[in-house]
Amino acid sequence: MAVKELEVKLISIPDNLLDVVYTACRTCYSPDGAIEIFDNITPDNEKKLNLIKRVISSGHYSTIEHIQLSFAINNVSRALTHQLVRHRHMSFSQKSQRYVKEKGEFDYITPLTIRHNPKLNEKFESLMTQIANTYQEFIEAGIKSEDARAILPNATASSMVASLNLRELIHIANLRLCTRAQLEIRILVQKMCDLVIEKEPWLSEHLVPKCVRLGYCDEDKSCGRMKPKNG
Ligand SMILES: Cc1cc2nc3c(=O)[nH]c(=O)nc-3n(C[C@H](O)[C@H](O)[C@H](O)COP(=O)(O)OP(=O)(O)OC[C@H]3O[C@@H](n4cnc5c(N)ncnc54)[C@H](O)[C@@H]3O)c2cc1C
Repeated sequence: MAVKELEVKLISIPDNLLDVVYTACRTCYSPDGAIEIFDNITPDNEKKLNLIKRVISSGHYSTIEHIQLSFAINNVSRALTHQLVRHRHMSFSQKSQRYVKEKGEFDYITPLTIRHNPKLNEKFESLMTQIANTYQEFIEAGIKSEDARAILPNATASSMVASLNLRELIHIANLRLCTRAQLEIRILVQKMCDLVIEKEPWLSEHLVPKCVRLGYCDEDKSCGRMKPKNG
């Protein structure tokens, strides 16, 4: 049984991301056909970005739905994945708890707040050991893993490939980078955004919590980063 650290890798992003979005934007406003626009793109990235920024800021988001991104994610809790799969414009392939038996020991994610409290951390670990032993006992008694998993905790570590388009990533960043979101998912989404921004720095102004986009906080309880909506 081991405590694992969250890992995420950007495994797919188009090399010509800017050209694809630019073609989508220009196609809406140009007498030329989409193919001619794409075939005649020049290397002038500043020109492309000027148009793209104007189009996105006017809310014309379909233009960024053409960009598909895939991430390989290791060592996140089932509590996190349960939240992530609520996003309906994402595609997932997740480690199965039916086909992959936890062999007596299972990896789990200890929330940082518990990890930083030695006394509670000890209690947490002892409970995980107890669960692992009982799980193993069930498997040895012939219970199928699809039923034995009923006793595995939300902390059980999982792994997945998650894919989404750029519009959805921006939406998820707006929601899940908010300090009202759970810490583990916030850390994951921040890492996903950082990996994309590393390739496409112009996206840093979009991959932000919603308050930065709105200019105010629309949550009931503000963390203080931005003034409340009616404050
Ligand atoms: C801080 C926080 C706390 C939360 N707490 C809870 C909780 O206590 N309980 C709970 O159940 N959930 C909770 N959620 C989950 C939340 O309610 C959403 O289910 C989740 O964030 C997915 O967001 P979404 O629906 O905006 O986005 P997505 O599913 O990613 O969809 C993106 C956008 O597409 C559009 N869309 C997608 N599907 C439809 C549809 N069927 N009809 C119309 N428009 C659609 C919407 O505009 C939506 O915003 C919480 C989320 C956050 C960030």
